Amino acid sequence: MNGERLKRVRQAIKEAGVDAVLVSSPENRRYLSGFTGTSGVLLISAEENRLLTDFRYVEQAGRECAGFEIVRVEKTWVQTLRDIIAFRSYPRIGFEGSHLTYRLYSTLAEALAPVQLEDIKSGLDRLRAVKDNEEIKLIHRGVLMVDEAFAQLCETIRPGVVERDFSLALEAFLRQRGGERMSFDTIVASGTRAALPHGVASDKAIESGDLVVLDCGVVYGGYASDFTRTILVEAEPATWQEEIYRVVLAAQQAGIDKVRPGVRAAEVDAAARGVIEDAGYGEYFGHGTGHGVGLNVHEAPHLSASSEEVLEAGMVVTVEPGIYLPGKGGVRIEDVVVVRDDGPEVLTTTPKNYLFRA
Ligand code: ZN
Ligand code: ZN
Repeated sequence: MNGERLKRVRQAIKEAGVDAVLVSSPENRRYLSGFTGTSGVLLISAEENRLLTDFRYVEQAGRECAGFEIVRVEKTWVQTLRDIIAFRSYPRIGFEGSHLTYRLYSTLAEALAPVQLEDIKSGLDRLRAVKDNEEIKLIHRGVLMVDEAFAQLCETIRPGVVERDFSLALEAFLRQRGGERMSFDTIVASGTRAALPHGVASDKAIESGDLVVLDCGVVYGGYASDFTRTILVEAEPATWQEEIYRVVLAAQQAGIDKVRPGVRAAEVDAAARGVIEDAGYGEYFGHGTGHGVGLNVHEAPHLSASSEEVLEAGMVVTVEPGIYLPGKGGVRIEDVVVVRDDGPEVLTTTPKNYLFRA
């Protein structure tokens, strides 16, 4: 049982003004209870920690969730919950609004009436933003696995190689070394496709002179990693390729340099974006500068212009500006960075000079 996390969720319950909370998203469920199964709901209040799950997971839950009472769901978890709640005084219950479907929410509201349901998902998600040492270790391990995969396979990015075949080789390499799965569908975007910020590997063959944006991550111990490098395939760089690469690299460094406790996430975005805007490419950088990484590959804090979050020691974020020129190609560079008391600790070790190799 992770007493510290349960203490913090109880604090969040208090702050949200609810009497108990239902945790249904896989990330928060695992974070608070240790449960790695794919079906179940937590009920947490000042007095109780329960996991409602079906017969497939009862034994596993008993092993994984010390400190939780495991309740076997017979028909639906909503019915089981209703039976439990009937003996409680929980007039207001928090739930995860962006996770429950509308249909499930309606069923829940009807079954629990007159209980008032409050969406407190963002408060729950915030609990995961600051990582402990164990979590940082797992993320670091994933980051280094991808660094190793890239070092081994980068030379195989050659003219004639199909994007999808490269992503398959990369994924096989990572899975063989203990990766549970990829953090998301691997992006291999070559040539003009590199102008697509989310160009998932396709049937296109890589060509000489292409910029190739490779964006991938592996999940290790439940924790995601995230990585992007842009490489030039067997050619001297064209002037525009070299220019946007240098701008993105400078922007990324400016963003990383800003990372420290007390800095607003929006300031990191502004630092990176400023470099790209000053070089005249502002309109070609249409996404946020980075995001938190953890049990979810995209989580708090969000490093974007509209973010109101403030960095704290122990947060783990990506810094990943890019420039995407429609019809030509694009560049993105992404590292994973830990917010430390004395500044940024960059976990990613892969060099960033891939445009300049002979
Ligand atoms: Zn990312
Ligand atoms: Zn990425």
